[in-house]
Amino acid sequence: MRYPGDYAVIVVGAGHAGLEAALACARLGLPTLLLTMNLDTIGKMSCNPAIGGPGKSQLVRELDALGGEMARAADATFLQLKMLNLSKGPAVHSLRAQSDRAEYARYMKRLVETTPALDVKQAEVTDLIMDGPAFQGVKTKMGFEYYAKSLVLTTGTFLRGEIFIGLESMPAGRAGEFPAGALTASLHTLGIRTGRLKTGTTPRLDRRSIDFSRIQTEPGLEERHFFSFETTGSLRPQQPCYIVRTNAATHKIILANLDRSPLYQGLINAVGPRYCPSIEDKVVRFADKESHQLFLEPEGADTTEMYTQGFSSSLPYDVQLAALRTIPGLEKVEIMRPAYAIAYDFIYPEQLDRSLKIKALTGVYTAGQLNGTSGYEEAAVQGFVAGVNAARFVQGQEPFVLTREESYIGTLIDDLITKEIREPYRMLTSRSEYRLFLRQDNAEDRLLARGRELGLISAARRERYQQSRDRIDREKTRLQEFKITPQPQVVEILAGLGEKLTAPASGYALLRRQKINLAGLRRLGYTPAEELTPPEAEKLEIEIKYESFLAEVTLQIQQARAAENCKLPPELDYTALSGLRKEAREKLQKTRPETIGQAARLAGVNPADIAVLLVWLHARSGR
Ligand SMILES: Cc1cc2nc3c(=O)[nH]c(=O)nc-3n(C[C@H](O)[C@H](O)[C@H](O)COP(=O)(O)OP(=O)(O)OC[C@H]3O[C@@H](n4cnc5c(N)ncnc54)[C@H](O)[C@@H]3O)c2cc1C
Repeated sequence: MRYPGDYAVIVVGAGHAGLEAALACARLGLPTLLLTMNLDTIGKMSCNPAIGGPGKSQLVRELDALGGEMARAADATFLQLKMLNLSKGPAVHSLRAQSDRAEYARYMKRLVETTPALDVKQAEVTDLIMDGPAFQGVKTKMGFEYYAKSLVLTTGTFLRGEIFIGLESMPAGRAGEFPAGALTASLHTLGIRTGRLKTGTTPRLDRRSIDFSRIQTEPGLEERHFFSFETTGSLRPQQPCYIVRTNAATHKIILANLDRSPLYQGLINAVGPRYCPSIEDKVVRFADKESHQLFLEPEGADTTEMYTQGFSSSLPYDVQLAALRTIPGLEKVEIMRPAYAIAYDFIYPEQLDRSLKIKALTGVYTAGQLNGTSGYEEAAVQGFVAGVNAARFVQGQEPFVLTREESYIGTLIDDLITKEIREPYRMLTSRSEYRLFLRQDNAEDRLLARGRELGLISAARRERYQQSRDRIDREKTRLQEFKITPQPQVVEILAGLGEKLTAPASGYALLRRQKINLAGLRRLGYTPAEELTPPEAEKLEIEIKYESFLAEVTLQIQQARAAENCKLPPELDYTALSGLRKEAREKLQKTRPETIGQAARLAGVNPADIAVLLVWLHARSGR
């Protein structure tokens, strides 16, 4: 049966990818339909209710600068905020929020239900309706057909999902939820190749059964930092997190029960995330380690459930309980939900182009866990890019593409489409060659103009950004004009900071030194003309301290841009190009990179192959 009325875009899935995709399309004014299997699980955080952390806070801030929602939702619903890695360089400073799981999901549900041009309906999509390679609509399990011009698929861990607790397994998209059984077959009929991945989650503990007097408390952040550049006001009241450690007795129980682990019995035929190993993996792989740190984190203000970060497992329930009860403070702990592992289908992301469109099809975009990634933030940013591009396709506009040089989002997508992803991909700061430039503090400098071009950033926001930027730049000028001479009092204060001054210097020059910050300069008599917010002060210090490094990175970026601007024709037949090595020819023919830069990043393509491509391009252009 055909639904009366067509949409411009259909988004399948209301997880973190689907929400950003649907909101972007609707905010761009297109009639959008969000279809999801259960309206009660919109915006649900499947694993730890936490947003941000290394590599991920950068993604969230970038999404905010482009006009996405996740940052605002995280600011509105956190239980605790922390700034991680402050003892390291600014490239890895990362904001992390422990979120209230239920409040976050309510925020997102309320938002999609009140966004104009966006319809939200409960249904399981089982088939794509195509005209050859061109998308027409989707069919649901109830036999309903919805038609639209483009589609964004964001099915998360649901495609033929199967969960494992000990030697028990059952079909499920997440614990307690149906899997999506049919859609994979529909993708296969269209020639889309899929693989199998797995991930796991940890037990949720009852806080009433924990002896907090015996465990270490972790308080939240005191300074005002938020994910969204738009959030103002004071911090919400925060809840503490806690730290406990496993010990020899915990490890003994785990090792004695490996024969009841589906992982170790080879029951899960899928690849798991390397950077998020289960507790049984950690105990086996790092056998010389006497103990592993676990964080106990609140799941919400209205629940007694506590998340056990670091104890992801697929061991049976009784083993999980016995192992946890060996930990001081957890002797009487009760598990409210056991840990479990889940295996699911994903599509090999090298089948996508930079706009997240499936290359072989027209009007079909994919995002999130379905593309082989793991994590809410990775899902959300892809959802945004896929949603924007599904909308631009309908509007007949050029695809919106972000590059490695300007963003972690571009880095993530480039990695997905050029590296053969065969294990869950998670963002890490080490994945970027430009990480000193791609910081969380300067995401607006890098991307606000792109968000404005898209039409998702208001003039008022752009104005607010410009005022902040001007304040920082004015302060830089004042710092250059502020001169400090080596008088005895100054020398004494500087000695206290571990620094020396033998000749007059500007405040700007002193701020370049590692041990001197704005607070130190104030002690030397400097007062800013205008009070900077903590994020503005942070940005000012970083820009001055790392000026020469940043200049070097900028040069590298200019060189990389030249390679990115060098486009390869989509119809190029690599099998007919002489001079390419066999491996490179096959890889290029299969992957069809869009630029010389992308071709150079393909595994199996070396500089000699790139030289052949450049010679061919030059000959073709007659130069
Ligand atoms: C057990 C478990 C453990 C995890 N552990 C970690 C971890 O340790 N670290 C980490 O970073 N990430 C972890 N994740 C991953 C994290 O939850 C996901 O990366 C993130 O939620 C992906 O977002 P998404 O939008 O792609 O998909 P999801 O959040 O999974 O949302 C998928 C949505 O699609 C809908 N849907 C699916 N199929 C259909 C269909 N056919 N028709 C209609 N609707 C459909 C579902 O109802 C759901 O709303 C874990 C996930 C699970 C389930």
